[in-house]
Amino acid sequence: MASKWNELLERNRVYAETKHQPKTFMGEGPVAIPSVIIFACLDFRASVEEFLDLKPDEALVIRNLGGRAKSGLHALLFLEEVTKSQALKEVIIIHHTNCGCTVITTADVRESLKSKYPQMADEIDQFDFGTYIGGDLENHNRVVREDIKLLQESPLVREELKAHVRGYVFDIKTGKLSLVPQ
Ligand SMILES: [Zn+2]
Repeated sequence: MASKWNELLERNRVYAETKHQPKTFMGEGPVAIPSVIIFACLDFRASVEEFLDLKPDEALVIRNLGGRAKSGLHALLFLEEVTKSQALKEVIIIHHTNCGCTVITTADVRESLKSKYPQMADEIDQFDFGTYIGGDLENHNRVVREDIKLLQESPLVREELKAHVRGYVFDIKTGKLSLVPQ
């Protein structure tokens, strides 16, 4: 059976043999860590790398369900520790139109999972998928503002970073980012 992953592995073999430039280990020499960190959805229709024409060393990208700040916060805090708070200067939150997160509620996902795995009900009730119903721009803006607030109100986030958190909604039809007014 044809496997997509096997096809991708073959691409990696060619890449490693023909294109790859060895990267610098930490401690081996200077490593220029990007100053921008972006939270974005894992949806393939809203690929940050594609719509920002992003090169690998230009931004750190945390992609998760919805681009929600809560599920990316641990990675942000870890990066701050690893870089001794010297690298990151700007935090960008990007949600997108027609996100899967806006068409099903966390409660519905929990109920469906619990009907299949009733023995796991207590654990499933703790799952937070960060969903929010409603695809209009005002609703997207409201949820992005919630995520900005979550970072800005966290005692764990550095004050300089809090001052440079911005949120956007990516329109998957036009390809444009719109700034969320705060
Ligand atoms: Zn999405």
